[in-house]
Amino acid sequence: MKHCEQCEKELPPRNNYGQYCSMQCTGLAQQDKAWAEFRTDEYWENITEINCTARRWLLLKIRFKCMGCGEFDAANKAAEVRLEVEHLDGNRRNCSLDNLTILCPKCMEGN
Ligand SMILES: [Zn+2]
Ligand SMILES: [Zn+2]
Repeated sequence: MKHCEQCEKELPPRNNYGQYCSMQCTGLAQQDKAWAEFRTDEYWENITEINCTARRWLLLKIRFKCMGCGEFDAANKAAEVRLEVEHLDGNRRNCSLDNLTILCPKCMEGN
């Protein structure tokens, strides 16, 4: 018996979603796969631009807190927009994780 690769539910003999049991599991698996690459250093070392999905992953990773002052305003839904990814060496094409820091506008200015 085959199982869904996402939720491990048994798959019916005639299944329309390949190795997954549902549309939902297919979607989740695709997201997992896309996000898995952000967890590898290679991904960051090989890009020269941070796309919006990668940026969102970074912000989630730091839980929307400024890496300079730790400011986080849960009530402020714009936090995600206000935080800026800063390249420590000043080279915007160097996106390796240890070259990145995420700062609020206040810390940006203090730099
Ligand atoms: Zn499933
Ligand atoms: Zn700050």
